[in-house]
Amino acid sequence: MSNGVCRVCGCTDVMPCEVEPNDINPSGTCQWMDDAHTLCSNPRCVANVPLQALLDIVFPRLPHQLNDDRLTDEVCRKLQREVHR
Ligand SMILES: [Zn+2]
Ligand SMILES: [Zn+2]
Repeated sequence: MSNGVCRVCGCTDVMPCEVEPNDINPSGTCQWMDDAHTLCSNPRCVANVPLQALLDIVFPRLPHQLNDDRLTDEVCRKLQREVHR
């Protein structure tokens, strides 16, 4: 995977794709969603990435408590209770 190229549409810094201008990004061209520059902010590109992958891309430094086994166990038990209700 090369950096500086969108993994979905293949746009680059020199050839960004056009997006709807908005308050956050008035330029009308896509911006990078991640530090590594592998996904641009084009809604079509963002929608193409599975949610979990998207979270990894946008929040790569998310606290690792989220991967804590005990927490996962707790969530699983909670979900099981929901399911068996
Ligand atoms: Zn893109
Ligand atoms: Zn783009």
